[in-house]
Amino acid sequence: GQRMFTGIVRDISERKETEEKLRSAMRRVHEQQIKDEFIATVSHELRTPLTSIKASLDLIIGGAIEANSDQADTLIQIAQKNSDRLLLLINDILDISKIESEKMQFNRIKLRVKPFLDTAIFDNQAYAKKHHVKFILTHCPDPIYINADPDRMMQVMSNLMSNAAKFSNENSVVEVSATVIKDKIRIAVTDKGLGIPLEFKSRVFEKFTQADTSDKRAISGTGLGLHISKAIVEQHQGELSFISELDKGSTFYIDIQQANQEAEKCSE
Ligand code: ADP
Repeated sequence: GQRMFTGIVRDISERKETEEKLRSAMRRVHEQQIKDEFIATVSHELRTPLTSIKASLDLIIGGAIEANSDQADTLIQIAQKNSDRLLLLINDILDISKIESEKMQFNRIKLRVKPFLDTAIFDNQAYAKKHHVKFILTHCPDPIYINADPDRMMQVMSNLMSNAAKFSNENSVVEVSATVIKDKIRIAVTDKGLGIPLEFKSRVFEKFTQADTSDKRAISGTGLGLHISKAIVEQHQGELSFISELDKGSTFYIDIQQANQEAEKCSE
């Protein structure tokens, strides 16, 4: 009896080991597939604007289009737009590679939320202007603090605010606020705009995904911003989430630990 029992136990544990090996092999194949897909997408995304820049310049330099003509102007503008896009893409892709290799550095300081949000609104005015919306700070207790890397956190705010402006109805208001919820601070960015379609909600934070994949997409973002923002917030032990209703608008939330003011005071 005992020997048979030991035999069965050994049998089960060996089977478990084999299953575990199989599972981890499958995981590796899956990870490799994701990497391959990422490289294929990146190559395509980088090549597209560069091809258009090269084609525009070739036409002008090759003499097919007269320099100083309206046509040449148009081509130069195309080249410029696509250079901008290429730069955005490259910066985003470098950020993703830093995040994935865990090499992104965070220089966290005690950050006072109110002036931080004032600066976010001031620094992102260009987006508001471009999309004819207004950024307003509706609520923010002061002083309240978080421990955060100011530059990386500002990158998240710019991403949320530019999205809010981009997907807003013209002449609407984008509200920015901070509230204290127990030991956390919730920063919210609310737009009254397109909203996010139900079927797209689960994919918002994925790389290279956009609800609108039509041609106009070529100039309006990379589909990488929210993926990067989520990673940055999570590196701060925070959470990035959203609620959204189609044709009504969206709110994105950053939930982050409130800096312990008492502890900080002792060391000051
Ligand atoms: P990008 O803005 O560069 O396309 P993001 O990762 O920042 O990339 O956003 C991904 C997609 O999520 C957007 O293309 C859009 O479809 C959707 N989205 C993000 N923010 C909003 C918003 N405030 N309102 C509606 N849709 C949004």
